[in-house]
Amino acid sequence: MNRKPKILIVEDEAAIRTGLIDVLVYHGFDTDDADDGKVGLNKALTGKYDLILLDVMLPGMDGFEICNRIRDVDREQAIIMLTAKTSDEDIIQGLRLGADDYVAKPFSVAQLVLRIQAVLRRSKIGIEEAGTLQLGNLMVDTRNLAATRGDESISFTRREMDILQYLYINTDRPISREELLTKLWGYARNLDLETRTVDIHIAKLRRKIETDPANPNYLITVRGAGYRLLVE
Ligand code: CA
Repeated sequence: MNRKPKILIVEDEAAIRTGLIDVLVYHGFDTDDADDGKVGLNKALTGKYDLILLDVMLPGMDGFEICNRIRDVDREQAIIMLTAKTSDEDIIQGLRLGADDYVAKPFSVAQLVLRIQAVLRRSKIGIEEAGTLQLGNLMVDTRNLAATRGDESISFTRREMDILQYLYINTDRPISREELLTKLWGYARNLDLETRTVDIHIAKLRRKIETDPANPNYLITVRGAGYRLLVE
């Protein structure tokens, strides 16, 4: 792929928006931008962006709603939320609604660019599709990001499915948060990263695949070691 990755910036604060455009163009990205939530959503839904940088507080429609609406129709779209550093709730909410990652404001340019590059690298690599996974009475169709349990149908984001497949392939051992961050998010091992992103994705997966998410039968925590998927 020789074309430049195209990033949509949805941010209403002009100084931040133009700063982001400058930085991203400097680092070899093409950009487009919106200063209003509804305009941002309409642009995002064209599906022509490699990644969307999404602010939370926006006029017209907030970033959570935009993320939710994008995920309704596109579970592959790479999305990074721009959250307030002081707001844990924003971070958790953004990830729950299907953002791939978040960058807390005020952010360092280096950190932001690393995260964008990691998410883009990840969405190009993909991990080997396992096809169909069975967890008890849950049948997972990895290619269609979907699962069924009896009459119930469940949908996954690309990121959730990648985690599930990675744990499935490595069912013989617990997988640390750091390993998930390096293998699936594409982060360098020596980066000092918060691991909450992983935990929130695991919590989302449990709500989808476990009948009792508080007492998981499949996606278990191995104290001091990480997460393990038990496959019969
Ligand atoms: Ca804002």
